[in-house]
Amino acid sequence: MPADDLIALALVGPSGSGKSTLCSHLLRKFAGDLRLSVSYTTRAPRGNERDGVEYNFVDRTRFQAMIDAGGFLEWAEVHSNYYGTAAATLDESARAGAKGVLFDIDFQGARQILAKLPSLVSVMIVPPSWRELERRLRARGTDSEEVIARRMRNARTELAHYAMFDYLLYNDELARACDEIAAIYGAERARRARRASLAEGLLRAPDAVAAQ
Ligand code: 5GP
Repeated sequence: MPADDLIALALVGPSGSGKSTLCSHLLRKFAGDLRLSVSYTTRAPRGNERDGVEYNFVDRTRFQAMIDAGGFLEWAEVHSNYYGTAAATLDESARAGAKGVLFDIDFQGARQILAKLPSLVSVMIVPPSWRELERRLRARGTDSEEVIARRMRNARTELAHYAMFDYLLYNDELARACDEIAAIYGAERARRARRASLAEGLLRAPDAVAAQ
């Protein structure tokens, strides 16, 4: 399948919005069909993160070399680290037989991909309230006060860009939000442009009565 036919889906949302859980849910539900775009980052691995699985972990020199070589579809600085999507991601996914690629990126990355790939399906996760978002960040128990404050500021900046997104996913209840993101991806798969060959095939085939 050519890379142009892939469904490119960007899921954007502030830290604590439930984005990772929603991504995992989608990847499980559409396993073998939807592939995660594994980004490059200069941040250090956390906890159980493995190189090449959650991220490709690289140092700043390597990241800069990739920028210089035009190796990124998009890249951005987020929370004082660099993150980028390899330019080869779409072609690689198409070659691997995927029908869709999921980008877990920030709004700056979504904006850059959109400029190059207008068919990008973009979804922003909206938290129920600032209070709830802060509660979720604290519940992780991993971040300092300073980091939490920075993430809350970034969340506001991120949300301010809501108007560029196709869909807003309201994550007041995770199970419902999981159903909704699956419905969005499912609907994209059923678009006329992607299903036209089914209808065309039937129109070319003789009908059952004429074939008898
Ligand atoms: P974290 O460090 O918590 O894994 O990710 C921090 C933020 O960077 C998240 O909002 C995540 O979606 C975003 N991010 C991850 N990979 C990329 C990428 O390749 N490009 C951009 N622009 N943002 C990314």
